[in-house]
Amino acid sequence: MTEATSPHAFWLAGREATGNTTFEVTSPWDGRTVGHVSVPTDEQVEEAVAAAAAVAEEFAATPAHVRAAALDHVVTRLGERAEEIAQLISAENGKPIKWARGEVARCTSVFRWAADEARRFNGGDAQRLDSDAGGTGRLALTRRFPLGTVLGIAPFNFPLNLCAHKVAPAIAAGAPIILKPAPATPLSALILGELLAETELPAGSWSVLPVPNDRMPALVQDERLPIISFTGSEPVGWSILDSVPRKRVTLELGGNGAAIVLPDFSSEADLDFAAQRIATFSNYQGGQSCISVQRVIADASVYDRLVPKVVAAIEALATGDPSDPATDVGPLVSEDAAKRVESWVDEAVAAGAKLLTGGKRDGATYAPTALENVPADTQLGCEEVFGPVLSFTRVDGEEAAFAAANDSKYGLQAGVFTHDVQAAFRAHRKLEVGGVIVGDVPSYRADQMPYGGAKQSGVGREGVRYAMEDYTYERVLVLTGL
Ligand code: NAD
Repeated sequence: MTEATSPHAFWLAGREATGNTTFEVTSPWDGRTVGHVSVPTDEQVEEAVAAAAAVAEEFAATPAHVRAAALDHVVTRLGERAEEIAQLISAENGKPIKWARGEVARCTSVFRWAADEARRFNGGDAQRLDSDAGGTGRLALTRRFPLGTVLGIAPFNFPLNLCAHKVAPAIAAGAPIILKPAPATPLSALILGELLAETELPAGSWSVLPVPNDRMPALVQDERLPIISFTGSEPVGWSILDSVPRKRVTLELGGNGAAIVLPDFSSEADLDFAAQRIATFSNYQGGQSCISVQRVIADASVYDRLVPKVVAAIEALATGDPSDPATDVGPLVSEDAAKRVESWVDEAVAAGAKLLTGGKRDGATYAPTALENVPADTQLGCEEVFGPVLSFTRVDGEEAAFAAANDSKYGLQAGVFTHDVQAAFRAHRKLEVGGVIVGDVPSYRADQMPYGGAKQSGVGREGVRYAMEDYTYERVLVLTGL
């Protein structure tokens, strides 16, 4: 059978299964069919949820070394299949192959961290209680237990690694997981399923179900899924939280990341470095990263030297076929996404913004673009563009820079180019974001660090150990008569 008639199975309670219908996954670069994916029926979704509930107690009691060994196995197999998986990510997502290879490496590190955390998590904590008379002879032991099955919902932009951020901590914590990949990019998640299927994890402890969006509300409401870990867009994320206010919901949502350049970051070498990093990380993955650089807020003393350097670095980026190792910027996830970005740039220019470079669309590819004087009340001025578009703002002094960065409904991460340690601490204190990256763009993320947003960018934190805490709760054991 050809690829077109042989759909990819999904993973139901650890085994392959197919439903009655399929959907097509196409390359955003040339529209070719990358694969067809089978869709689970309602009955199959029910089977997966019931299997997860049935295995929860057994899974929670699985020894740490068994869960760690399963995670180690995935690390090994990701290494062995790295190139094939990178090619798949690039094909279904349109991501340039060099960034897809980086994503596989990141995913490997998530599983490695999870294996390490599985071994050391839940060491327990003992407290003597005899500081009060009523506690004489008593001792409290604290351990964390899984809260139940995790529903992990992932976006298209890191189709492997953001699935890993849901799955690996769940396995490490002993919590069953139902993973729901994005409709545009399910194949990377299904390959992760292949690797998990090679492990000794209990059947039922994990499923990968490409459930259509219109059937997701029922799954979100299901009381057997007490934890929802969602990464995706703001409207969908907040509507999930509103619909299940009593569940434990983590939302990793959008951002319009600011790179702030303070006056002391002013030598030619400093500005060359900042320009290179800003140009690269406003455009990597076509700007489709929640911590991509969307805004550059530069002190007036460096602004006129910085802007031409960034524009030149942007113009030096190679746009084109994502499978070419030389390509820096590929297509967006769809032509519709590129048309939306185009309309936002056009709106900003019509409202008085000055286009410095870019501003052109070719199918799903939008040219790396930079503007200045973007009015705050345009879409580009206040929303997440999620495309290769950067705007410059000139400010006078550090206070004004921090205020401009905070003048946003989002608060995911900020980058601050400075050599001044005191300024770094002031930035940490004043910027309303989940992470401040000093000496670099906001786009830096290490997979073990706490990661998440303030304001409309979300609630809760990912990062392997933080997700494990989210999937578990503390239960105290008080011993008496000691
Ligand atoms: P999206 O919100 O359209 O989809 C995300 C996931 O939610 C998909 O799996 C989708 O199928 C599912 N979904 C859609 N409707 C649903 C519903 N009613 N109930 C439950 N699930 C539903 O987002 P996207 O376009 O795939 O991803 C882009 C967005 O993700 C951007 O806003 C980006 O900033 C954000 N993002 C955030 C982070 C972060 O860590 N903060 C990381 C990556 C991407």
